[in-house]
Amino acid sequence: MVKKEYDVVIIGAGPAGMVAAGYLEKTGVSVLVLEKQFFPRFAIGESLIPRCMDNFAEAGLLEDLQKQNYQKKTGARFVKNGKVVEFDFSKKFGEGWNWTWQVPRADFDHKLAESIQKRGVLINFGAEVVSARWENKLWNIESKDPNAVLSRITSRFIIDASGNGRVLAGMLKLEAPAKIYDHSSIFTHIKDEDRPQGKEGAQISFEIINRGAWFWYIPFSNGTTSLGFVGENDWFHTFSGSKNEIFKQMLDQCDFYKDRFSKQEYLFEPVKLSGISKNVQLLHGEGFALAGNSAEFLDPVFSSGVAFATESGLLSAKLVARQLSGEVIDWNKEYTEHIQKAINVFATYVKEWYTGRLQDIFFTENASENIKMQICSVLAGYVWDNKNPFVRNHDKAIRNLHNFLYPEKFQ
Ligand code: FAD
Repeated sequence: MVKKEYDVVIIGAGPAGMVAAGYLEKTGVSVLVLEKQFFPRFAIGESLIPRCMDNFAEAGLLEDLQKQNYQKKTGARFVKNGKVVEFDFSKKFGEGWNWTWQVPRADFDHKLAESIQKRGVLINFGAEVVSARWENKLWNIESKDPNAVLSRITSRFIIDASGNGRVLAGMLKLEAPAKIYDHSSIFTHIKDEDRPQGKEGAQISFEIINRGAWFWYIPFSNGTTSLGFVGENDWFHTFSGSKNEIFKQMLDQCDFYKDRFSKQEYLFEPVKLSGISKNVQLLHGEGFALAGNSAEFLDPVFSSGVAFATESGLLSAKLVARQLSGEVIDWNKEYTEHIQKAINVFATYVKEWYTGRLQDIFFTENASENIKMQICSVLAGYVWDNKNPFVRNHDKAIRNLHNFLYPEKFQ
């Protein structure tokens, strides 16, 4: 039954919201999740990175996920002009998980939500938050059901995990210009009947089409596969026709995957997105924290979205629990600094991917195993490990290495 007052309301039942709910449930804080849609619902963001596993474990969600037989992801493969480079998470610098999963998000997010509901947390599906007012140290929250019937509740804190709904960022006018040059994406799923046996069929792969455009191949354990492209908006504008036609024209530009997928039927009309990079002016304020995509999203290239969502969902929940028990929390120090560190490191990697420096480094003939392990640790999401020079000096390390390997370029 929906009560009228909660300690914490979480907006959104994606990975950020479910990890926050899982942690809060363990601490006994009263929590309600308001979710606009009904699950299962489609979401993009299917390739996880190992750091997510720490967060699912701490929120008490890992055990249920491990029963699902999702495709294990042990690394990533990059393909360019017929050359293949692999990163293996078991060969990374420092501590941390060596594997994670590739997941169809409709099913994965549904399983996360069921796991949370089983523990007694109420998720109110079909409840779209339409207003939130902060008065006398309480939030007055209004949500609307599919029949436009309004419900009102109060809470002492909001964790906004509404993804691209960006509920509080919109209401409180917190939007900020994106940190990364904006890209577009188009993607679909296929029934992958000619999947090669063994590692090649199972591993996530990226084919680089040009410096600013790439293709993803993400096979799932249920026999379907996700295919997608990300590229500069100008590159997208060079294609025309229906979304099916655009997708086929883009596939024609892939050397490696063209033949395999050119005659493939799509399970749904390709979805095209632009304006995918998001940013906000601040990550928290009195009575609220922003987590996951409702706060920040850089770019799909290093699959950091769900790791960032679960990291911020978990940390915001931990800090709220302590605050509600009477502690004074320095949110700038404990929340913004931690989250911003991850954003800064990944922002460097994303930017240097699109300058081409990181692509040159990945495909160099002269790769040092040691350096590859340090970069691999970043790709696994361990971006707080200052023992790793490719974390500690992220802004200089890639440029310096590139200057060393390719002194003739970018002078
Ligand atoms: P979401 O998963 O989007 O969940 C937010 C929830 O909030 C939704 O269920 C929504 O219905 C609900 N909601 C919205 N508005 C309201 C409202 N008003 N009231 C109530 N509920 C509301 N990340 C990866 O980790 N790996 C990848 O391979 C990857 N690939 C990507 C490819 C593309 C093209 C794009 C654009 C992104 C990709 N991402 C990837 C990023 C990933 O999609 C997101 O970072 C991740 O889904 C964010 O999770 P979240 O919990 O913050 O939000």
